[in-house]
Amino acid sequence: MHLDTTAIHGGYQAKNGEPRCLPIALSTTYHYDTTDAVAELFDHPELNHMYSRISNPTCAAVEQKIAALEGGAAAMLTTSGQMATFIAVTNLCHAGDHCVVSSSIYGGTINLFSVTLPKLGIESTFVSPRATKEEIAAAIRPNTKLVFGETVANPALTVLDIETFATAAHEAGLPLVVDNTFPTPALCRPIEWGADIIVHSTTKYMDGHAMTVGGVVVDSGRFDWAASGRFPEFTEPDESYHGTVYTRDYGKIAFIMKARMQMMRDLGVYPPATNAFILNETLETLPLRMERHVANARRVAAWLEDRPEVDSVNFPDLPSSPDHDLAEKYLPDGCCGVISFVVGDGKGTQGGSRDRAAQLLDGLHMISQEVHVADSQTCVLHPASSTHRQLTDEQLVAAGAWPGLVRLSCGLENVEDILADLEQAFVALA
Ligand SMILES: *Cc1c(COP(=O)(O)O)cnc(C)c1O
Repeated sequence: MHLDTTAIHGGYQAKNGEPRCLPIALSTTYHYDTTDAVAELFDHPELNHMYSRISNPTCAAVEQKIAALEGGAAAMLTTSGQMATFIAVTNLCHAGDHCVVSSSIYGGTINLFSVTLPKLGIESTFVSPRATKEEIAAAIRPNTKLVFGETVANPALTVLDIETFATAAHEAGLPLVVDNTFPTPALCRPIEWGADIIVHSTTKYMDGHAMTVGGVVVDSGRFDWAASGRFPEFTEPDESYHGTVYTRDYGKIAFIMKARMQMMRDLGVYPPATNAFILNETLETLPLRMERHVANARRVAAWLEDRPEVDSVNFPDLPSSPDHDLAEKYLPDGCCGVISFVVGDGKGTQGGSRDRAAQLLDGLHMISQEVHVADSQTCVLHPASSTHRQLTDEQLVAAGAWPGLVRLSCGLENVEDILADLEQAFVALA
């Protein structure tokens, strides 16, 4: 099946007389006829459902759909994108271990790797998203357990050189974990470029309508945990789960089964069936929506580049972008619908004008200010007034979040209406 067909038919297929729509299995628990059936369930937890902290039929259908979209072997939903990354990391690392991480990633993930994981004894070394194989290899230590990057970084919009990161990781016997939130599998399938584990904040384009917070971890099924020699927890008996050996008992889905039977069992961060139902519906239109997000963003980015009030536009699809070569290679159908641009002060000062950026946003009518991206509605944010408001202009320039920087998430409206709203707000600038 093609990707847009999988988005509709993947996961749940109704049998004779069953509902056309994915049923919401709002049930904490499951019925079994015999003690033998329950015993069988404990021996083969991959075959059926035990308790909705660990798995649920509605969630399972969505997991199968997402795994199919990414070209993976299995997936597990989580309550947020942050939890997807946390589980992916802690399924591989424990106290005393180390990660090599691209420095251009989501702010929440930077915080996870640089503040919270160190409290649990897991350290990280940050490298450039354009690091060479040798630079990545130099950061890898004997206790390193994974390499991590983001396909298209939120909000910097840098593109990860996935193949280089995958090769460096594999040569050291390590898996590459990739956050593919911004492009979604509709625009990039990192497993095809060598990534082993994929995480998503489904809150963004997968939901796409600003309704539910969620996450997912996808296992490519390709990483050879036994051959690596770095992962005894995958190849030796798990005494907390009656001696299961994940690689022996689950083969290609060892990573997800270990994540489910250890992390999900102990942490309990599984979404309710109602959220999975909503995600299933929104995923049906994901490829179609991404096409429109990209078309709108390409048009708006090119239009912004021509505006005299704008100093610079950052969007990897633009030929002027320093990441254009990587975007052409990994994201030929577009990178996402998010653009950033710098509103100038009219004097060419580096970083533009904080006041004029704020004035532009306040002049918008249809486009709303939100601390969110990847919505069907076009939305904007001025980092200097919000997420970075404690910083001085000098600190903002140093952080790359210029005082005049605006983040614009192009929605699904008619692009003429998006441009008209921007135009009237630019014209009104003093
Ligand atoms: C939003 C986001 C996250 C965090 O996801 P939540 O669902 O908000 O927990 C992680 N990575 C990226 C790229 C994001 O945009």
